Amino acid sequence: MLVPMAELLQDAQRHRYAVGMFDAPNLESAEGVLEAAVDHNSPVIVAIAEAFFKDVRFETLVHAIREEALPLKVPIAIILDHGRSYESCLRAIQAGVTSVMFDGSSLPYDENVRITGDMVRAAKAVGVSTEAEIGHVGQGAEYEKTEEVLTKPEEAVRFVAETGVEALAVAVGTAHGQYKGEPRIHYELLSRIYDAVKLPLVLHGGSSTGDERLKQSIQHGIAKVNIYTDMSAEAIERMKKLLNEKPETVRINPIIQLTHSAFRDVAGHYIRLFGSANRA
Ligand SMILES: [Zn+2]
Repeated sequence: MLVPMAELLQDAQRHRYAVGMFDAPNLESAEGVLEAAVDHNSPVIVAIAEAFFKDVRFETLVHAIREEALPLKVPIAIILDHGRSYESCLRAIQAGVTSVMFDGSSLPYDENVRITGDMVRAAKAVGVSTEAEIGHVGQGAEYEKTEEVLTKPEEAVRFVAETGVEALAVAVGTAHGQYKGEPRIHYELLSRIYDAVKLPLVLHGGSSTGDERLKQSIQHGIAKVNIYTDMSAEAIERMKKLLNEKPETVRINPIIQLTHSAFRDVAGHYIRLFGSANRA
């Protein structure tokens, strides 16, 4: 079944587990994530990031994921991940997502508040859940810089009050993509933010952060963890292996299907780690 993300995150917050958000750049990867959810009797959030828009037909992909998620017994939310504008969020709502994330974390504070607030009002009017970001989660390749833009608890409180957003992405030491060096998670800061805002908090850049660090983060207030790179990297590993073993192959389907199985297996691992199995 399809549900707004807020329902899933409220339950996760109450019971101290996290719901995995898995970015799916095509239908095979989305099907892998949905299969992992069914196998584990777990809620999941399937995401399409605006960064993928150049590669996919966004409306078609949302439509297909909706068709596959609707008959399932497990609750599925579909989110626009890292929406870059108010207009993108409206486009996603029109396409049929159940949740939107607007990422104004690189904008000046007032502009982030203004666009996030507009987005939240529009989304709430049609029963769609919202997420926004304060502080800035950067790229792992320039990890040192992410330390400069950690979320400030006082600013997070103000941001939530001024926008009405329902889930808050925080910068506490993770980064997108693969890390240069070891990530350092600021658990004490995370606890302070959580105590101050009392909202489900979102950890972006979950891939290659490490299982123990992710578990600790969930204990300190994270209710949603975003994963993409680990699934994508695993799919590519499997493709390389198959092509090495059968360099003469001219059949594309066995290669494409490795996307499905890799996303399923890696998402399954994280579902177990986050404690969302049997929470459907
Ligand atoms: Zn992200």
